[in-house]
Amino acid sequence: GRPAQAAAPLTSGSEALFARARAVTPGGVNSPVRAFNAVGGTPRFIRSAAGPWLTDVDGNDYVDLICSWGPMLLGHAHPAVVEAVTAAIARGSSYGTPTEGEVALVEAIVARTPVERLRLVSSGTEATMSAIRLARGFTGRDVVVKFAGCYHGHVDSLLAAAGSGLTTFSIPGTPGVPASSTELTLVLPYNDRAAVTAAFAEHGDRIACLITEAAPGNMGVVPPAVVDGQGFNAFLAETCRAHGALFISDEVMTGFRASPQGQWGLDGAVEGWVPDLMTFGKVMGGGFPAAAFGGRAAVMAHLAPEGPVYQAGTLSGNPVATAAGLATLEAATPEVYDRLDVVADALRAGATDAFTAAGVPFVIQSTGSMFSVFLTDSAVTDYAEAQTTDVAAYGAFFHAMLDRGVHLPPSAYEAWFVSGSHDDRAVQHVLDALPEAARIAAA
Ligand code: PLP
Repeated sequence: GRPAQAAAPLTSGSEALFARARAVTPGGVNSPVRAFNAVGGTPRFIRSAAGPWLTDVDGNDYVDLICSWGPMLLGHAHPAVVEAVTAAIARGSSYGTPTEGEVALVEAIVARTPVERLRLVSSGTEATMSAIRLARGFTGRDVVVKFAGCYHGHVDSLLAAAGSGLTTFSIPGTPGVPASSTELTLVLPYNDRAAVTAAFAEHGDRIACLITEAAPGNMGVVPPAVVDGQGFNAFLAETCRAHGALFISDEVMTGFRASPQGQWGLDGAVEGWVPDLMTFGKVMGGGFPAAAFGGRAAVMAHLAPEGPVYQAGTLSGNPVATAAGLATLEAATPEVYDRLDVVADALRAGATDAFTAAGVPFVIQSTGSMFSVFLTDSAVTDYAEAQTTDVAAYGAFFHAMLDRGVHLPPSAYEAWFVSGSHDDRAVQHVLDALPEAARIAAA
């Protein structure tokens, strides 16, 4: 058994590696959020992982509630995935020619989602970038609508901050993105139907597409609001159709996680609508670089080599990544999804008890088993409200949990990701850590 860690764990190995890393890599990390800038301290360098546990280079064990920011639906080193990947890599790692594995993975995704045709790529960023290019090529229009707080990867035109007025065009969200890349992007507040209606009334004939996270998870989980029986996504699909724009539902995070059919399984499948294009990543790669975009056959027919819109990739449909993805989707049985619900319910209940007892204002929001804890006092419906979360209290809470062997996402604006491998012992380990960590957050 693993002893519960009471005192702060020894981290000299991680500190030494972080110093080495910073000498050769900006910030010492290969993706910014890993650097702990939002919570302070030294990121843990992980040596290995198994099931729900991470082990760092100093030998400390943590229950993993990051799950690689979504992909590890089955937990780490799942036997079926390890076996599939081992067999695939022994047959060679990349050929640059078509393979049966790609066909099988695409068929598996087409079977689980409403997309008719799918193209594989290597990252969620590529998927959204390509979907937008295709939407522009298909419609012959240039304007893209997105929502503040939705993250679609680091695509230039989507790294946009809202301009001063609701229906004015936006400004680059980072240096290095020219104004010309974002001046065709409209950024609106999430869940705000009046803003969407106004933007389409003013610019409708120029709008190629609207892209949204199917249920935002990158500002914390903010479910699409239901008004008079109609979900926000249904409203967006209807508005896009009325104006000849394409509705792109980004399921990179929610796909195969929020439900077996992603967020669409929770709203579109029930309400009877289908996005024009969808993007996937994370779970469908089983921890390897694989992502995809797809949708209506008539739209996808515009993609090269069938149509004129260019898109390509040396490692697209990589045989090892597709083997991992296919093994993951095949092992994601109804029992796995039931377990995700049980684990999420237990953690939501434990967090509710702990923050209530500690007197810390909090709100827990979910879509399926995907959930997040906002340290704020009322429901969060958009990015402005998400920003009322108490970032300093989250930092204290995060480190108190880390000291007790629970690795939460090092950011206050993230979902807590669980896996089918989170067994009762792992769940109990988190439940044991929560009360004291919540008291520390209150201090
Ligand atoms: N879209 C969504 C909803 C995401 O959550 C992410 C990544 O977090 C992306 C796109 C970008 O995916 P990637 O990091 O694989 O480029």
